[in-house]
Amino acid sequence: MEDFSAVSSIRRRVLVVEDELINREILGAILSNDYDVDYAVNGQEAWDLIKEKGGSYYSLLLLDLLMPVLSGSELLDMLRKEPEFSALPVIVMTADRAAEVKSIRQGAMDFIAKPYDMPEVILARCERIIRLCEDSKIISSTERDPVTGLYCREYFFEYVRRMDAIRNDIARDALVLDIDHFNLINDMYGRSVGDNVLRRVADAIREVFRGLRVIAGRLEGDAFYVYCPHDEENPDRIRKVQELAGSLEGDLRVRLRAGIYPNADMSIEPEARFDRAKNACDRIRGDYISEIASYDRELHQKSVYNEKLIRDMDAAMSRGDFKVYYQPKYNITGDRPYLSSAEALVRWIHPELGMISPGVFIPLFEQNGLIQKIDNYVWNLAAAQIKIWREKYGITIPVSVNMSRIDVFDPHLELKLRQILQDNGIAEKDLMLEITESAYSDNAQKVTEVTENLRSRGFRIEMDDFGTGYSSLNMITDIPIDVLKLDMKFVRNIEKNEKSRKLVDLILGIAKCLRVPVVAEGVETASQMDILRDMGCQIIQGYYFSRPVPPEEFEELIKKEVENK
Ligand code: C2E
Ligand code: CA
Ligand code: CA
Repeated sequence: MEDFSAVSSIRRRVLVVEDELINREILGAILSNDYDVDYAVNGQEAWDLIKEKGGSYYSLLLLDLLMPVLSGSELLDMLRKEPEFSALPVIVMTADRAAEVKSIRQGAMDFIAKPYDMPEVILARCERIIRLCEDSKIISSTERDPVTGLYCREYFFEYVRRMDAIRNDIARDALVLDIDHFNLINDMYGRSVGDNVLRRVADAIREVFRGLRVIAGRLEGDAFYVYCPHDEENPDRIRKVQELAGSLEGDLRVRLRAGIYPNADMSIEPEARFDRAKNACDRIRGDYISEIASYDRELHQKSVYNEKLIRDMDAAMSRGDFKVYYQPKYNITGDRPYLSSAEALVRWIHPELGMISPGVFIPLFEQNGLIQKIDNYVWNLAAAQIKIWREKYGITIPVSVNMSRIDVFDPHLELKLRQILQDNGIAEKDLMLEITESAYSDNAQKVTEVTENLRSRGFRIEMDDFGTGYSSLNMITDIPIDVLKLDMKFVRNIEKNEKSRKLVDLILGIAKCLRVPVVAEGVETASQMDILRDMGCQIIQGYYFSRPVPPEEFEELIKKEVENK
């Protein structure tokens, strides 16, 4: 363990800036027992020395005010303007009371009167100022994000609260700026480039909002929060930040999305106000036309609706309002398509709101971790269903279940899955796991590690929504998967659009290279199916064969299959 008391016994360095030799000698005699002392004979010499040594080299500056070349107060000004040196503590030395006051205003921490006081007094003052500054540095190192110098989460909201407490009669805006695909920037260009991007955004915010009494913080990695007085010009300011931060050298272009909650409701917690700004910001994720969105009435209604869903979820779970539907997948390689497997898709039959699509509540529950409960529930039901059908019809229909990002990070994932299989007496290969492609591109290493392990235990992994997740080609070849699911947006345009067809061809080529079959999702017509078959796609899922249906209806499809055999 590091002994922290050792820190206080380190000899600090003090710089004495004084043009008169006799004064330098007196101070040297007083200080050199306790400190390493350097000397400069005027402000310019001191400035050069400080610049050469760096901002944290000296623990204290003893500064004479009247000197040739560059005076003490000129040096003070220069130091305060330079962020690297602005925290360097300065004690001024003067015989002139008025000058003392002025220099304290300029940022000096204390003064020593000339002619010099008793040595003990001078030493005590030096020691006190050094300690004070070091303590406040410790505080500010946790207060501020080390990369950008902006506030960290706790302090950001703490200062927002303080600002509200001082003046709660001023209308304010909550702004959130978010870097698009920041993880990808980190992965592709490395962490130090990622850090540069973050600093660049922070600098742009500082520059644009300079002098406007704002509080700015970096939260959650790549989200920047700004709390500022309400102003019609704030959207323009955001655009300016986007412009300044977006122009990076090389092939890296940084895109910043922003959400504004104007005239924020002061009666709700600051966190909730910024959630709303974030909500607006999230609404334009993946939208390449708008770069700023406002929290408006429509969003407000949506967030009220979402809050209701979150509140209702637990009760719905215990009442059994969540149902699992099944959609068949057909193998089309032979003369006649045959039922090869199914996908389990959850539905919420809400007593007041009716049937709610998972497209609505899944993304919502992914944000707050509730999704894990739903997923576990679905996995259990799906496994039980496989067993029921096997007992009833003598065939095993493998069922794919969807996994959320958060499931992948669950350290008990494998255990949970094994337990489910054991409870129902089914094999690993029959409960297939769909993981969306974007989960891989967000955190390739972790997801690869988890899926590799699951595969070694006999599970089969399907990469879902392929073509939407921005994977790089070299990543794909390293990822362990068993099936590729072509995203339905490619299928939708396959008849009309030459480009779509080319893309599908490319993806089928990749799959061939990886030696994995492709499932095409969202196939609604016979001609879509025919085109896909001609291009070499093996498995089809979509309304053409069947919508996702309750288990009773799915049984009809199984019966047909059994009869045809
Ligand atoms: P997904 O995994 O990509 O599922 C396919 C979606 O496409 C389903 O929407 C399905 O109903 C729909 N679909 C299938 N065939 C066609 C077609 O021919 N045309 C059209 N237009 N759509 C078709 P659904 O059931 O609304 O699910 C939406 C998404 O919700 C799913 O996308 C999946 O990401 C998520 N989801 C559903 N159930 C679960 C679950 O139990 N757990 C998790 N984590 N996510 C789930
Ligand atoms: Ca899926
Ligand atoms: Ca999909």
